[in-house]
Amino acid sequence: MDNSLKCTFCGRKKEDISILISGIKAHICDYCIEKSYSIIHNHNNNNENIGKIKKINKKFNEKENELSLINPKKIKKFLDQYIIGQNETKKIISVSIYNHYKRIKNNFNYEIENSNYIEIEKSNILLIGNTGTGKTLLAKSIAKLLNVPFTIADATSLTEAGYVGEDVESILTRLLQSSNYNINTAEKGIVFIDEIDKISKKSNNPSITRDVSGEGVQQALLKILEGTVVNVPPQGGRKHPDQKMIPINTENILFIAGGTFNGINKIIKERKNSFSIGFKKIVKKNNILKNVIPSDLKKFGLIPELIGRFPIITRLDPLDKNILKKILINPKNSIIKQYEKLFNLDKINLNITDEALDIIADKTFKSKLGARGLRMFCEIIFLDYMFSIEEIENKLDINKKIVMKKLSSYL
Ligand code: ADP
Repeated sequence: MDNSLKCTFCGRKKEDISILISGIKAHICDYCIEKSYSIIHNHNNNNENIGKIKKINKKFNEKENELSLINPKKIKKFLDQYIIGQNETKKIISVSIYNHYKRIKNNFNYEIENSNYIEIEKSNILLIGNTGTGKTLLAKSIAKLLNVPFTIADATSLTEAGYVGEDVESILTRLLQSSNYNINTAEKGIVFIDEIDKISKKSNNPSITRDVSGEGVQQALLKILEGTVVNVPPQGGRKHPDQKMIPINTENILFIAGGTFNGINKIIKERKNSFSIGFKKIVKKNNILKNVIPSDLKKFGLIPELIGRFPIITRLDPLDKNILKKILINPKNSIIKQYEKLFNLDKINLNITDEALDIIADKTFKSKLGARGLRMFCEIIFLDYMFSIEEIENKLDINKKIVMKKLSSYL
């Protein structure tokens, strides 16, 4: 191997770089390829012939990424493997994902001179539901299905520029990182913004280092939700002031926001009661969140412009004991299946009785932790067995009595 090979552009030696591509008389390293790519991308965006070039570029990307459209029923079927219940939300999401990608395809065919062109607007999704009901899981499963870059951002850690904390652009930095700095795929990625309710205007999450109201963060978020070109620091943060910004177009990035919106029930009830006397009876039967409308979110403390960026609002059902039990065993990678596998790797057969599962579901339901509680209780049940795994011979039977004893101090 010739160790004296160098990148003709930056001069770095072959042993210092991961990929070196050789031409007839020159060599280029992966770093310089990426750098050159971002220069070309920048140049294209600024080019007067932007329409034409974008069209060629997008046609190329279309082939490259094979955004094959899976129909909504197939999307839902896929989601059913991982998410138990939440049927209405899964249906809504399946349709909106389908439309989102149809929209990207439609916009690929954009021609300035084509007067028949109808621009389909973006359909970001807002998920409202108690903690541990599957909001993050939904977003993650979608990203898995679509094989696109995916990132989760916590809205509570975001701040307006100039305050201590993360700038909203950091969300796009992470998306860029999860796409291995491939700008084109990042621009079609999915961002899940968790705890969006915690940046409401009257949020009780005040901080001396950031604007107390949360409104500033909402305004900052708007910037990336709007579908514009945002300059993103590729290494994130403010620690690298010299880094060259990468322009990312957020037009085709799908934003899914999630939040518990504690207290919104009261707002819905008040609004409904002022219109109809019979509402109280209806509410008893249904999940009150079903009735949420944008004005409730405004009253809760989200600014109208932000609400407007989430045309699809859906709420998740609270999980009852029955569903919790199903979550333990039914999903493709259910918690119990994972434990079975873990023990199986040590050649131990795990058997857990139906009654034992009932107790775990019941305790979880009472804990109000959502499905997250299932794992917590399972960890408690299995810890000692795992610690002394070498003492178990061939099989492990877990029954109601064992579970009751292990979880006796919890509710
Ligand atoms: P949140 O709504 O707070 O975002 P998550 O999606 O993070 O909740 O769910 C927490 C955990 O509970 C996940 O790891 C997932 O395994 C499980 N879970 C929650 N809801 C469901 C569901 N409907 N079906 C299957 N698993 C679920």
